Formats: sequence, C-alpha cells, structure tokens
Amino acid sequence: MKIYLTFDYELFFGATSGSVEKCMLQPTRDLFDLAENKNVHYTFFVDVGYLVQAEKYAELSEELNLVKAQIKEMLKRGHSVQLHVHPHWEKATWTEGKWTMNVQGHYKLIDFPTEDRVRIMTTYKNYLEALTTSKIHGFRAGGWCIQPFSELKEAFVANGITIDSSVVADFYMQTENYNLDFRSAPRKSKYQFENDVCEEVENGTFTEFPIASYRYRPSFYWMLYGLGRLFPKHYKMIGDGQFISQGGRKRQVLFNYSNHHVSTDGYFAKKLHAALEKSINLGHEEMTIIGHPKGNTLYSLKKLKKFINLNHQKHEFKAI
Ligand SMILES: [Zn+2]
Repeated sequence: MKIYLTFDYELFFGATSGSVEKCMLQPTRDLFDLAENKNVHYTFFVDVGYLVQAEKYAELSEELNLVKAQIKEMLKRGHSVQLHVHPHWEKATWTEGKWTMNVQGHYKLIDFPTEDRVRIMTTYKNYLEALTTSKIHGFRAGGWCIQPFSELKEAFVANGITIDSSVVADFYMQTENYNLDFRSAPRKSKYQFENDVCEEVENGTFTEFPIASYRYRPSFYWMLYGLGRLFPKHYKMIGDGQFISQGGRKRQVLFNYSNHHVSTDGYFAKKLHAALEKSINLGHEEMTIIGHPKGNTLYSLKKLKKFINLNHQKHEFKAI
C-alpha cells in the first residue's frame, strides 16, 4: 500500500486567522519530527494566497520569511510541495494587526469570473514555483470546492496542473460557502478524469488522488466535541484561529451517520488505523489522507506517531 499523508498548510479563515507560529510553523515542525529517519514523505498543499497577500505588507515580512524558509525545508527533508488555492485571500486585508477576511461570495475559485480564475491560479503557481525552484503539478482546492470542474479546467490546462486531490468519495456539503457533491465519485483510490472530477475517463488528462473516506457514527462526533471541551490540553487544536461556518453541519453529524475524510486532524486521527484496514480490505493500492498542521492536537500527534511507527516498514509513505 502506498500511503499519501497530505497536509494543507494554512491559517484559519473564520473570525480570527490565528498566528503563523501556532497554525503553521510549530505544528509543521512536529510533523517533521514524526517522519524523521523513517523514509516517510508528506505532501504539503501550500495555501499560496496567504503568501501572495502577505507580501504586500512590510510588517509581515519577518513571519513571511519564516514561512518561506519552512517551505524550502519541506523539500530539503524530502517532502513534496504542491498548490492549495483559497482565492478569498484576494479580498483579504491586514489592518490593525490582524487579517480581515470576508469569504462570502468569493470562497471558491468558481465564485470568480473565468479570467480571474486563470489569473489567480497562474499567479499562485508561479509564486510557488519561484519559491521552491521546482515544477508544480499537484493541486487541492480550498474547502474541496472543485466543482463544476469543467469551469476550472482552463486554469488547470493553462498551468500544467495534472494531479488533483480535492475529492472525498461520498462526501456532500452544500452550505453558504461550500458547494461539493462527491456522492457519484468512483470508489477507487486513484483514477483519471477529464471534465468532471466524479467521472472516470480512461486516459483522461488529469489524475485524481481522492482523499479516503470513512463512515462516522454520531457517537464519534459527540466524543470529538465533548473531549475538546473536557480535556482541552490534549484535544484542543494547536492552531489558534477559528473555522468559517459549515452551516448546520455540526448538528447533522451529531445525529446522523455521515461520510467524511480520513484525516490526521484532532480526534479524526483515532480512525487512521481502522481506515487503513478498510482500504486494504477493499483491495486499494493507495490511500490518501488529509490533515492540517493547524489541526494537530497532542492526541492526534500521538495517534499519528503510532500510525507511522506501526506502518512505515509494512507500507510506503509516499509524496504526491
Ligand atoms: Zn485549505
């Protein structure tokens, strides 16, 4: 089995963005430690919108330099760096010592006119290629919002992006900001597509590495929310910002079975082992797992460490 541990390297986009140190630098150093000397390679999907926007403010140059140095260190350590696009950064401003972000109406690339989609993708990709001095071919959409792909295809082709990892099979979320429906996606761990991320096309231009999905019981989410309140030291995220609203999703998952990603974030890390067993039973040859440095907790780091230590000799931890 090839296991792809992928991390979206970013701040938060809710009422408070959180700090670069707590959301990005420190938790990424913790992830580096877990992979050290184990032939374990990660893929970091870097939210380039933040970097491009931060370049505009002299007072952010110090933290920006630390982030840039860490991105270079990812490569030096044998990890892969790819493109993650949260286009609402286009509208973000740094004022009075904090980011003001308004995601409404421009959270998704699709919310922008066609020419802006190409411009944003090209600007961000070029920035990342210049920083890393390497070619970028991989992409993950902010908030998994990559549909309808036919509307984004031009921006992919223009930039030579041929690999995507935005799909979470079976996952569905329609809210004010999110618009995704992966219920018809192929139940495969890797496939090719052309105009629709949910439709496999043999010899299609693009390769999808869908994020593995898992069926979570309501009790899982009662524990997730409950433990965070009862034992924040172990179960609270290291990242110090706030999420944007997922419009009623919390209520829904607390009372119904639901499909969601296999993830290293917080309490989700509990299911890494069970999800791997499931992938093996399904005969999959690869498994893509999502995580966010900002979503690390003491608990999740302990679980991820165990997951890596148990499996790094049995399976390959590869980068996309
Ligand atoms: Zn993201």
